[in-house]
This record gives sequence, C-alpha cells and structure tokens, in this order.
Amino acid sequence: MRRLQDIDVKDKRVLMRLDLNVPVQDGKITSDARIQAALPTIQMALEKGAAVIIMAHLGRPQEGKYDEIFSLASVAKYLSEALDQDVPLVKDYLENPPDVAIGEVVLLENVRFNEGEKKNDPELAKRYAQLGDIFVSDGFGVVHRAHASTHGVAQYIKIACAGPLLVREVAMLKQILLAPKKPMLAIIGGAKVSSKLMVLKALIEKVNVLIPGGGIANTFIAAEGYNVGNSLYEPDLINEARAMLEHAKMRGVNVILPVDVVVADEFSVEAKAMVKTIEDVADNEIILDVGPQTADMFARIIHDMQTIVWNGPVGVFEMAPFAAGTKSMAQAIANTKGFSFAGGGDTIAAISQFGIEDKVSYISTGGGSMLEYIEGKTLPGLAVLEEK
Ligand code: ADP
Ligand code: MG
Repeated sequence: MRRLQDIDVKDKRVLMRLDLNVPVQDGKITSDARIQAALPTIQMALEKGAAVIIMAHLGRPQEGKYDEIFSLASVAKYLSEALDQDVPLVKDYLENPPDVAIGEVVLLENVRFNEGEKKNDPELAKRYAQLGDIFVSDGFGVVHRAHASTHGVAQYIKIACAGPLLVREVAMLKQILLAPKKPMLAIIGGAKVSSKLMVLKALIEKVNVLIPGGGIANTFIAAEGYNVGNSLYEPDLINEARAMLEHAKMRGVNVILPVDVVVADEFSVEAKAMVKTIEDVADNEIILDVGPQTADMFARIIHDMQTIVWNGPVGVFEMAPFAAGTKSMAQAIANTKGFSFAGGGDTIAAISQFGIEDKVSYISTGGGSMLEYIEGKTLPGLAVLEEK
C-alpha cells in the first residue's frame, strides 16, 4: 500500500475518502471522535501543499435523492471551526466539479445520496476519480465496503494511497493478531452470536482466554445446559456454540462464562433488577447483565493479561440497573498494565459513558471493518490500494 506520508502532493488535488459518519441530533454532533481522528490527515495534505476535496457519508439515506436529515452540513461547519478556515459543503459536484485552490478544503455532500454509490457503479466511480489527482483512502470504518467512494474510485484514479489513520489502524490490528504479547484475552460481547460468530472463531485460534458477553454469553450459557428464561439468545446457534466450547477446550483456551447474572422480568429501566446464580434463572426472567461475582472474576482475569481485545458490552449498559458489569469491566481495562485494544460502535459509547477514553491503549475507529479484519476477510477498500 502506498502511503500519503510518502507521496508528493504539492500543487495537486487530493481527493480523500474519510469516515465522518458522526452521530447527529437536531443538527448537533453528539460525538466528534471520528472527525477528530480524521483532522490530522486533512492537515497533513494541507501542509504538503495540496488542495483538499473530502468525500464522506452520513447515516443510511435512500440512494438517489437528497434528504436534509442526512446532510453533512453540521460536519462542514465543524471542520470550518476546527481547521480555522471556511470549508464549503458542495452539493452539485457531479455536474459541476468544484475548483479548489491550493490550501483550500471542500467537503462534498453525502456520497450515499448518489445513485450507484453502494453498488460500486463504475460510471459514478469514474466521475469521482475526475474530482482529484490523487486519492487518499483514510476511512478505516468504511474500507470493508466495496462502494464507489471506497473502492471504485481508487481503480480509476491515477494514484491511490492510504492515509495515516488507515495505516495506523491496520498496523495496530496486524500487531495484535500476528505478534500479541501473551497471555491474551478477548472479550466479545453484544447482542448476537450470529453477528460475531466468525470473529469468535478467529479469536479462539489466537487467545488464551475468551469472555463472551451479553446476548452472546446467553447462547453459550444455554449451550452449557442452563435455563436462560426469556433472555436474548439464539437457539439455532446452540450447537455451534457447543462446538466452539469443545474446540476451545481442545486448544487449551479458557472460555469464561458468568457464574451469576442480573435479571429482570422485563426489558426496561424501571424493571426490578435481581442478582441470581446461573443455575437459578427462572423461565420468566431476562439476563441483562453479569452479577458482582462474575464482574470481580473478570476484573481479576483482565488484571493478569498482557493483551486485551474488547468488542461488545457484557450487559445492557444503556440502562442504569444493568450497567454495572460493563462499567466494572471498563474500569479493570482502564487499570490494567496490559495493552488494551477496543472497537465497535456500542463499545465506544460504553467507553465514553464510563470516561475511560484516555486509559484504553488503542481505540479503533472501525466497527464492522475491525471485525472483518480480525476474521481474516479481505477488505475491498484495502485490497484495491494494495493492487494499485
Ligand atoms: P458493538 O457495537 O460494540 O459491536 P453490539 O452492537 O454487538 O456491540 O452490541 C451492543 C448491544 O448489545 C447493546 O445495545 C447492549 O444493550 C446489547 N446487550 C448487551 N448485553 C445484552 C443482554 N444481556 N441482552 C440484550 N442485549 C444486550
Ligand atoms: Mg453495535
């Protein structure tokens, strides 16, 4: 992969694809983490004497039509302030390619408004390619998509390279997967085994200890023969979970399941939370967090690890009565001397809720892309840069 760091972009039009998909509520950006992560890339291109044209998306609009809710207007405003220069938002760039002077930055309106973006339409990709001289791919969170702005454009432009954020994310993941310090722990929580089956399988081959959390843990608990009541779990995947437990045992990987849990009889903040041992969950109860004994056990394990990979909460941390397990785990990760690597949309929300941003060794900006990388899949947005 060529890197922006090594390329002469002086007096060139640099077309960058960034991940600026921030949460916006009533026109206000509620978390600026992704923009902050992208700023050094824009600054690098400016310092090297380029004109900067940014491509990005926001949310999931319907393709082929403009929808104000998904406009990047608030991002353009944020960028103008952060860079201390006017960053215009350009809407009609496909019909009227903007003329951008050296030292200037423009933001192109949401690429997902364009027909053919998600289908990776070659005609659209060619039109993107005409907007710049050099393509810089730097949205790690979008490189697992073969879209016109993440993949196609790189094929049709003369020079395509990786930006510094992408380079760093990939280097970090490589390090974690190929040469991690042992012992290594993976915590894979969240809602569904089905969404993380492949990542669980891949990590069993790498780690010494695996902690499944949340709805994923429930499926494993059921696989062990315990009653999970009305909990979120996937009966179809019980056999799969059992096979994984067998395989882990064979490999000497320790899979840690909860010994106690927090249950309620409804999925609600108002529900009465009760601690139960894993044997005592009743038919009408829902497991919504791990219990205090389990939380202590997790903390002790985390303390002894050299490398910790964390994706997915171990409880419904968005609701106060069920947040303690994830909070205790987050604090243990914050306090450990080992190297901690975390990623995932809800995981990052939990990290910020518990205020440990500065104590995690590395927080990935990728969610799906990070998981696919760990699974060993080819990420189209990376592959196209390597081929180039
Ligand atoms: P990430 O975005 O970090 O990859 P996921 O999207 O896989 O994480 O999962 C996050 C969601 O899992 C959260 O909304 C959380 O409430 C939910 N969750 C965690 N534990 C449970 C549980 N026991 N029952 C139901 N949902 C759970
Ligand atoms: Mg999520």
